[in-house]
Amino acid sequence: MTGASPRPGVREVEPYDSPQVDVAVRLNTNESPFPLPAGFFEDLSRAVCDLPLNRYPDERVTRLREELGAMTGRPFDGVWAANGSNEILTQLLQAYGGAGRRALVFEPTYALHSRLSWLTQTELVRRRLQDDFVLTAEEVDQAREAAPDVVFVCSPNNPTGGGQPADEVRRLAEELPQTLVIVDEAYGEFSPEGSSLPLVAAYPNVAVVRTFSKAFALAGARIGYVVTSPSVVGDLERVRLPYHLSALTQAAGVAALRYRSAALEILDRIRSQRGDAGTLWRELLARGVLIRDLTAAVPGALRVTAGTEQETDRFLEALEEVLAR
Ligand code: PMP
Repeated sequence: MTGASPRPGVREVEPYDSPQVDVAVRLNTNESPFPLPAGFFEDLSRAVCDLPLNRYPDERVTRLREELGAMTGRPFDGVWAANGSNEILTQLLQAYGGAGRRALVFEPTYALHSRLSWLTQTELVRRRLQDDFVLTAEEVDQAREAAPDVVFVCSPNNPTGGGQPADEVRRLAEELPQTLVIVDEAYGEFSPEGSSLPLVAAYPNVAVVRTFSKAFALAGARIGYVVTSPSVVGDLERVRLPYHLSALTQAAGVAALRYRSAALEILDRIRSQRGDAGTLWRELLARGVLIRDLTAAVPGALRVTAGTEQETDRFLEALEEVLAR
């Protein structure tokens, strides 16, 4: 290969995106299947027409942060916004990770946490979650041992789906006071009762990261935010690019917040599409097929043993029958 050489390792990774194929049913990137109502797009169009796009945008993102603060019950200076939660995660690592510093992840989890650690030259420490993928005192002990500068928790966890107990997150924050505890709540609105947002007021080292891409049905707008202490926000302001968030994006965020209840209704529609694992288990049993109900340990999980060909066929027939109802 001729020409300039990139830093070591760059040519060993593939670009990060989910392969997109032109098919009718795309269920591979956790987007919302429904757009916000037409009123949102009308409001946004009007707001865009009034934007002074010849000028740089508000670099402090004042209006959007004020409104996010009002929504989450936090002051303006405890909220920060960027181009999707991925940019928030990057900025957090730019400020709290970096060369000579360490980040801890509990896997399986969202692959970007480790990839962004690599990108920011942060040393990565990987630990495995136990079989039920739930954080326990054991992981808190492992975190104490690893003494990372940053620890990631994803709740609800992508890809296992379950929430992490706020109590264990609190213990991480309390027992590792020098560590930034990043709680990635990209799917937080899907289980509001499990949020770590209430910890932020008491623990200045907790950063709860959220996004407009999922529950707000705005993946295309690229808006994410973090709710944390003013001191963390101050550090993010030090590492951000000048004018990192376009006026168009800021306007989209402000307009979207006016449609919060519509977004939550969409969320209910999506939630109602989830199958009920317990019912499925009972319906299969009624058809003479017994599988394992793991819902007590892993929310929504059922397990099927690979049996004889006939048993597997019987299981698949029964499953088709139940799902067709
Ligand atoms: N965190 C998690 C756990 C995710 O699954 C995703 C998107 N797949 C993100 C963050 C990134 O979202 P955004 O669109 O806000 O960058």
